[in-house]
Amino acid sequence: MELSSRQEKIIEIVKENGPITGENIAEKLNLTRATLRPDLAILTMAGFLDARPRVGYFYTGKTGSELLTEKVKNFKVQDYQSIPIVVHESVSVYDAISTMFLEDVGTLFVVDDKSCLTGILSRKDLLRASIGKQDLNAVPVHIIMTRMPNITVCRKDDLLIDIANQLISKQIDGIPVIKDTEKGLEVIGRVTKTTITKAFVELITDDHV
Ligand code: ADP
Repeated sequence: MELSSRQEKIIEIVKENGPITGENIAEKLNLTRATLRPDLAILTMAGFLDARPRVGYFYTGKTGSELLTEKVKNFKVQDYQSIPIVVHESVSVYDAISTMFLEDVGTLFVVDDKSCLTGILSRKDLLRASIGKQDLNAVPVHIIMTRMPNITVCRKDDLLIDIANQLISKQIDGIPVIKDTEKGLEVIGRVTKTTITKAFVELITDDHV
């Protein structure tokens, strides 16, 4: 986040004089308390300053990059996950390929009759199944999918940074977001490399750091 020169000045004043009231900061800058209010709100929200009622503002000692790291570490899966595309385990490889094109995704999640996760299909899984001579309409996806329990899953409260690390270490493109139910694992979302890219771009273009 870019600070204005006035915001930089406020930080300097609070660094040297904190805890200091808004009134006193305004005095030092020859401005009114009202003029200063938005800047103080921004600096407090961004974590540069802390405000204690009846005490005043003080400097948190955190640098811009520390605050950014803190922010990223708090990103949760539930705030970034996208809609999962699922297919039943009995559908054919041909139909799964069609679904992948129609839905414009690179990973499909496979579910059973109870709509619970049983497998996962990547682009390469479907390509591999397509290079033989078999009839793609006759091969059900459960024959070729990566199946449970070898599937990496995540939950909505997980930290996005941990899931990003899993995508890298396991060399996979996507991870299903699941909810534990009595029936099994219900698929409620997906986190993919695109999700992480979007979070990255949002971080840079977001002014509310
Ligand atoms: P692609 O194979 O198209 O490059 P991936 O790298 O995502 O896509 O998949 C590599 C292999 O890992 C595939 O066989 C796929 O079934 C499997 N796979 C994909 N996602 C997961 C996951 N979340 N957990 C376990 N295996 C996965």
